[in-house]
Amino acid sequence: MSSRKGHISVNTTDIFPIIKKWLYSEHDIFVRELVSNACDAITKRTSVSRTTGQEVEPGKVDVAIDKEAKTITFKDNGIGMSEDEVEKYIAQLAFSGAEEFVQKMKDAEGEKGDIIGKFGLGFYSAFMVADKVIIESLSMKEGAKPTKWVCEGETDYEFSDSDKSTIGTEITLHINEENKEFLETWKLRETLKNYCDFLPYPIELKDLNEIARITQENAKAEKEEDKKPLPTDIINDTEPLWKKDPSTLKDEDYKNFYKKLYPMDPEPLFWLHLNVDHPFTLQGILFFPKLNPNKPTNESNIKLYCKQVFVSDNVKNVIPEFLSLLKGSIDSTDIPLNVSRSALQGDPNIKKISNYIVKKVAESLKKLFKNDRARYENAWEDIGLFVKYGVISDQKFDDLMRDKVLFKNSENKFMTLTEYTESIPEKHKEKMKGKIVYFEENSSDETLRTQLLEEGIQALTTDAYIDPHFTQHVEVKKKDDQEIKFQLVDNAIEDILETTNASEDDIKIKDLFQTILVGEKDEKNPAQMEVEIKNFKNSATAAYFKVDESMKRFQQMTKSMGQSHFDMPMKKTLVLNPSHKLVQNAFKLSENNEKKDLAGKLCHHIQDLAAISGEGLNDQQRKDFVTRSQDLMSELSNLAL
Ligand code: ADP
Repeated sequence: MSSRKGHISVNTTDIFPIIKKWLYSEHDIFVRELVSNACDAITKRTSVSRTTGQEVEPGKVDVAIDKEAKTITFKDNGIGMSEDEVEKYIAQLAFSGAEEFVQKMKDAEGEKGDIIGKFGLGFYSAFMVADKVIIESLSMKEGAKPTKWVCEGETDYEFSDSDKSTIGTEITLHINEENKEFLETWKLRETLKNYCDFLPYPIELKDLNEIARITQENAKAEKEEDKKPLPTDIINDTEPLWKKDPSTLKDEDYKNFYKKLYPMDPEPLFWLHLNVDHPFTLQGILFFPKLNPNKPTNESNIKLYCKQVFVSDNVKNVIPEFLSLLKGSIDSTDIPLNVSRSALQGDPNIKKISNYIVKKVAESLKKLFKNDRARYENAWEDIGLFVKYGVISDQKFDDLMRDKVLFKNSENKFMTLTEYTESIPEKHKEKMKGKIVYFEENSSDETLRTQLLEEGIQALTTDAYIDPHFTQHVEVKKKDDQEIKFQLVDNAIEDILETTNASEDDIKIKDLFQTILVGEKDEKNPAQMEVEIKNFKNSATAAYFKVDESMKRFQQMTKSMGQSHFDMPMKKTLVLNPSHKLVQNAFKLSENNEKKDLAGKLCHHIQDLAAISGEGLNDQQRKDFVTRSQDLMSELSNLAL
């Protein structure tokens, strides 16, 4: 048997320690690299055979563990390599990249993760886990001789003859002590499942010790029926759903596929099958999941594949952040296999892919909105936040989706901003031009909303964390040159409802409340409070609070950005209705010296009632309210006795 020694022509001898040390954090990558090389080799053999008209056996990759021998073998029936080819493609070519890699690793402190990602060390990742690697190969070329290459983790290697009789390549790794975990079937299966779950050729995991044991037992068996079948453990689904023609698929197929990927999840709301050939190739399925409020949504849910090889679940640069709520898979030959953040940034293909996905997601939502409004509304609770976020953060998405954003109106029905504008009754159209009244759950005054509704004007409920940002975005980024202004219900009402001019008595009422409530300037009534009178027609409300809208919005913004400590006192105005019986009575009582005390109590009470209808009372105010209520009730019941 002849043997030929060689030396890897690399200017540094540091390569192996560096591979081991720096690739360590992602050491299971060797599985992906070796299996995808095997699949590529099968694809090459298939296409060569197609051109020559040769019959070829179906492609298959076996990954065999021999725990006793401490080896893992990757065997394919692909194109195979001659000795020259192993020399050229494995021993020499791979190392030209490796040299640059070593240099970069030496230069860069801190950013090593990115560099590792950029250099596909491919085959050499095997040395992360193995001390010795053997390649045996037989090329499909006519008259090719099988060859064997052995390298023991040094720059020296050796070729010798091989008796391999089947076309293809077999790569055996002698797993080192630190990585013996990969010799466990469960561990290797898990790794294969992660990277190879959807590869196009069957990947079979074999436990050679187990097979030997069964074979031995079978040999001893006296009767044929006592013989046990050998286990077959095919890891992957060679034809993932996204590769199939959408027109041949039923809803059930998508639901089942989802269940397989996310077994713990409830059924998805809907999905989107992506399929494009030009100007880039991309296939994929994106699911809109039902939100789980107990689970954080910032985990990555979309997996990237390149020709069915799992690449990454870090999709940050491939799809905009607001879409990271979606789940599913994207498969594109135009996503580089060695995805790293810096490599992806600025890649023109990635930008195109990202735009395409945004457009497709928006189009599918628009379609649903148009064709099945009920389903769209049902899903709104789950998708609303992400749609609003998308509108704010992505110009393209904004163009397509702004008018599909829903809000609940005063009658608890969903409407869009355009529908809102259209819903304004003719007689208020002029006054309401470009205006949208909103109502804040938990802080706006319900009676004001009812009053507006009696006029046929809706108030849209905004309570979500994102709404202050959304409304600001709509106000600032005009669409079709249309000015839109959101106005809180308590600010809007005086512009909308008719008022009569204040009489002399009205002014006196205002002065009374001013003296009693503001004049005291105690801690409970921050000096910021002002008193106003507004004589609305048919108003049943004694008083309500109006806040300074711009201050309120500023506060909301800082709060939603996590700066809750920035809690400045808000300027408030107590708006009195001088025609209301309670207000009038308080005034009349105040003119009688003996009843001044009662009048004061009523004024405070009217203020507290207005606060309760709106934002509520603070602790001190609540205590005062209870004591005062008891006093007033006692006085009232005394009268009745
Ligand atoms: P890459 O796959 O990125 O080209 P690798 O270092 O993984 O880099 O592989 C180098 C080359 O070796 C491949 O391009 C291919 O020509 C050859 N090769 C590797 N594995 C196999 C295999 N199983 N069968 C045939 N050729 C292979």
